Amino acid sequence: MSRRSLDTLAVHPPMIPSPAASPVVPPLYQTAAFATEAVLEGADYDYTRSGNPTRDALQAQLAALEGGTHAFAVASGMAAVGTLLRLVPAGGRVLAGLDLYGGSHRLLHRVLDRYGVEVALVDTTDLARVEAALAAPTDWVLVESPTNPLAEITDLHGLCGLAHGAGARVAVDNSLMSPVLQRPLALGADVVLHSATKFLGGHGDVIGGALITRDPALAEALAFLVNAEGTGLAPFDCWLVSRGLKTLALRVRAQQAAARVLAERVAAHPAVERTFYAGLAEHPGRALHLSQADGPGAVFAFTTGSLARSAALVDATALLHTAVSFGGVASGIGLPCRMSHASLPPAVCEQRALPPDLVRVSVGIEAVEELWEDLSRALDGAQLRRAV
Ligand SMILES: *Cc1c(COP(=O)(O)O)cnc(C)c1O
Repeated sequence: MSRRSLDTLAVHPPMIPSPAASPVVPPLYQTAAFATEAVLEGADYDYTRSGNPTRDALQAQLAALEGGTHAFAVASGMAAVGTLLRLVPAGGRVLAGLDLYGGSHRLLHRVLDRYGVEVALVDTTDLARVEAALAAPTDWVLVESPTNPLAEITDLHGLCGLAHGAGARVAVDNSLMSPVLQRPLALGADVVLHSATKFLGGHGDVIGGALITRDPALAEALAFLVNAEGTGLAPFDCWLVSRGLKTLALRVRAQQAAARVLAERVAAHPAVERTFYAGLAEHPGRALHLSQADGPGAVFAFTTGSLARSAALVDATALLHTAVSFGGVASGIGLPCRMSHASLPPAVCEQRALPPDLVRVSVGIEAVEELWEDLSRALDGAQLRRAV
């Protein structure tokens, strides 16, 4: 019997010596600090901001999935973009795709400008424009392909070649594809970014982000920043993302299969004007996309010709919930201009011409015919409103 008091015992649970236990999933090390046996020798882990085994397990898996050597799990997708942009020196220059996540534009235009960083926007679907824009010395190029929500396609391999030739690095935000469908490092990107909140987590229950690279010098710089700024993902959130990753391939393929069915039907519905999805035969970037990715993904968008009709349609769906996120097992529908992209600076809105009546659909894993029943009822209602 221990002679320690209840007060002391309450603070010190018996520790299970790890070599004796072989858990079948990476255990959750929900601890702020790690004790060391010999103070002068230090230990592999000392403080969770700097390193935690649960985070390391997730990071190793993320690196493997994206074909990288180093990965960093951070507090959110925006923390991932923010950490990347810390690599831009004061007075440096970033070339950014026109059609980027709204929060990325906010960071570029309202935070980076404080450090005298020049942000140039370019339509990266046109490599001639990229080449012209790279005439000025550039530190980083930040792109998404396909873009969210307009599904515009950039030739990633071509863009990386141009950027590297001009002495710039390339980061690709791969949140919309996930490594199941597209692996930008193999196409020449220096860093891949993710909002792990989307497909990687996949269940709508955790906010997280990731940066993956196979460049040791970049990895060292990123590791330094994550520790210095305290942006590392908390152990429990790492554990949730890690749990989500087990079904990533199954989810993404099932969600994509259902999205193909729904996007075809939506595109053919009389209430719809234009549909944006790289899986449709009429999509101008389809062949290019399929040359660099394994499918169009599970998110598509469409217009109805009227903001009022689009809003009524979104409100009319019952199974598809109206929420800002995408990539989860539960389907969602929303108006990007009013929701996920509401943070776009007005100048960016003008340049990229995001239609105000644009509706974005993220397809989950519900029965596809039940999703169509819900969506087609809402579309029929929009068509009736058009008639009156
Ligand atoms: C959601 C999203 C982000 C931001 O991620 P958070 O986890 O919400 O911070 C960045 N890029 C893309 C493409 C996104 O969809």
